[in-house]
Amino acid sequence: MVAKNATNSAAPKTKVDPLHFKYPRDVHNKFKFGAHVGMAGGISNSVTNAMDIGANSFALFLKSPRKWASPDIKDDEVAKFKQLCVQYGYDPLKDILPHGSYLINMGNPDAEKEEKAYGSFVDDLKRCERLGIGLYNFHPGSSLGSDHRQSLVRLAKNINNAIKETKFVKIVLENMAGKGNLIGNDLQDIRDVIDLVEDKSRVGVCVDTCHTFAAGYDISNVETFEAFWAKFDQIIGWQYLSAIHLNDSKAPLAANLDLHQKLGHGFLGLEVFRIIANYDKFQGVPIILETPVGDDDGVYGEEIKLLEWLQGKKQLDPEFIEKLKELAKLGEKERDEHLKKFEVKKEKTVKRKGKDVTTMVSKKVKVEAKNGEEEAESKSKVKLVKKEE
Ligand SMILES: [Zn+2]
Ligand SMILES: [Zn+2]
Repeated sequence: MVAKNATNSAAPKTKVDPLHFKYPRDVHNKFKFGAHVGMAGGISNSVTNAMDIGANSFALFLKSPRKWASPDIKDDEVAKFKQLCVQYGYDPLKDILPHGSYLINMGNPDAEKEEKAYGSFVDDLKRCERLGIGLYNFHPGSSLGSDHRQSLVRLAKNINNAIKETKFVKIVLENMAGKGNLIGNDLQDIRDVIDLVEDKSRVGVCVDTCHTFAAGYDISNVETFEAFWAKFDQIIGWQYLSAIHLNDSKAPLAANLDLHQKLGHGFLGLEVFRIIANYDKFQGVPIILETPVGDDDGVYGEEIKLLEWLQGKKQLDPEFIEKLKELAKLGEKERDEHLKKFEVKKEKTVKRKGKDVTTMVSKKVKVEAKNGEEEAESKSKVKLVKKEE
């Protein structure tokens, strides 16, 4: 028999005044629903920002994600961050998953740029360890048109060196939405890198729902969702799953575009989030929202409450169906716009492919366009970040 007053070990050690925060936090929930929160005014503010939206886990940037150099975190901020984590019951080893800089590309074929990326990467990892944080998520990078396999080898070599330079932080590779040169669109890329990592206890994977869908893995219903995770287990292995990024997708399936959308508004729809909120294998894993909220973090508070509401809901529950329709309606206009863009792009690609076979010159243009495309993509990501901060 279970004692009536048994408490969850994740519960805050001190009593939290519920009136102090905007959204009440469900500390007894076995699922760690959370979001990417801001750290303006000092890194310790991220902890109270997480409390404000009722998050059981959170992500943050450790420095500006679009600058190479950033001043060190001050000692008093480190102390304050740790103290607030204790006060509010966040375990930095398991509940906090910082997001790395978008500039880091350790698969870069240019040795000088690779070294610069490595420096920023290790600096991030050391920041984690100073703060007592046990997980660090980053984008695996791009081969930039060079030999893809060699890029994976380069990335793994840098991960191995970074592990030797640090003590405990787990390096978590995020799957990507794009195609071609980007590393991590294909689950096999991630497996290949893990294979080359010497200390496998220090490496993990973060699955982003938007990236997964945009990369061409349909996860929008129970059958396809199960099929994806069976594939994940077969190629990578459950033991490496370290986090989930929770986003709907503004772009359709296999559009290869990294465009996050609010839950239920996009092409994924609310059903996948109902599945996730009830998927026991995700218990204890940080499940981080990165949906576009502009300056209003309150949206995250609402989305966490939505996820909690989805727990225990059945697919045919009339209340659930009503909610699914309501949110889908809110995103209808944006879905239509992106579907049109996607179709125009597809048509252009077909036409371009037809022309390309004619001359060698056009082949060169294609390669240049591809590289340009990637640059444009990373620029649009920076824009998203700007909004988030
Ligand atoms: Zn990311
Ligand atoms: Zn993500």
